[in-house]
Amino acid sequence: MNNKVKTRVIGIDIGLEKTMIAVVDQRGDIIAKDWMTTKDYPLLNDYLEALSEHIVMLAEANGGYEMIRSIGISAASSNFVTGCIENAANIPWKGVVPLAAMLRDRVGLAVALGNDAHVTALGESVFGMAHGMQNFVVISTSHGGIGSCIFSGGRPHLGIGGYAGEVGHNCIVDGGRTCTCGRKGCLEEYVSERGIIQTARELMEASDEPSLMRSLTELTPLTIGGCCNQGDVMAIEVYRRTGFLMGIGLANYATIINPEAIILTGTLTRYSEWYASSLEEAFNEHVFGNIRGKVKLLISNLDNQERDVLGASVLAWQVKEYSLFK
Ligand SMILES: [Zn+2]
Repeated sequence: MNNKVKTRVIGIDIGLEKTMIAVVDQRGDIIAKDWMTTKDYPLLNDYLEALSEHIVMLAEANGGYEMIRSIGISAASSNFVTGCIENAANIPWKGVVPLAAMLRDRVGLAVALGNDAHVTALGESVFGMAHGMQNFVVISTSHGGIGSCIFSGGRPHLGIGGYAGEVGHNCIVDGGRTCTCGRKGCLEEYVSERGIIQTARELMEASDEPSLMRSLTELTPLTIGGCCNQGDVMAIEVYRRTGFLMGIGLANYATIINPEAIILTGTLTRYSEWYASSLEEAFNEHVFGNIRGKVKLLISNLDNQERDVLGASVLAWQVKEYSLFK
């Protein structure tokens, strides 16, 4: 009898600044974690060499490399179907990067790569607010954009090419702001952190009305929110518009797929006190009548970084085991 079942995986979250690495056991407990910078490695081979070293050292120091079954990775613009990062706007490596295959060749273990929104949704479905739900949407937000992942019948719906759920690139304003994707009026140009800042700038330029925002040394979603707390009419309008457009975007989404819940995660959740009421109002106004009042709008209660390495560990269990280390 062979009782050598591997009981651990590695979960990795590649962010713009930092890469988080964790050893996770089969019960979802994080045994150990480590991190390295992402942006200091403009050359992919240098990054993979450093990442491989971190993985091996962390595993060796915590129960041994031979205990590791596989690796799951979360990264923006990644495609689970191809195992490639495809034309990511913000990370250093351009074009189509076959990251899963390249890392597998270096470390001798199976590697699964998932889009950050897909991995976030896996984390929510196993450890978070979507636990026990079969049909839901997880919206992930970051400084630059917003993505999403649809779960249908308990499984992620990734689309034939792995591109499903690009809610941030739905056109919400005809002829609106130019998006990083090259088109105009995409939702994420309005409801990402940089979208909120842009809305504040446009409102200030459009009138001579007084606003506390005009004397801020740094215009950020947090400082704009601080002005809201002091009753600043223009700052309140910035967040009202943000919530309004988000509400319409999510109402259209819910009308098409009829989810049990829409779960907001990521950086935008920090500012929800300032846009939640206008979001809900716009959502209820625009969602199809038969599902009005039947879609839970939720804000994740998991720690962002922890959820993403845990989600990546869930992804790791989903790939076929492959190891050069028996
Ligand atoms: Zn776009």
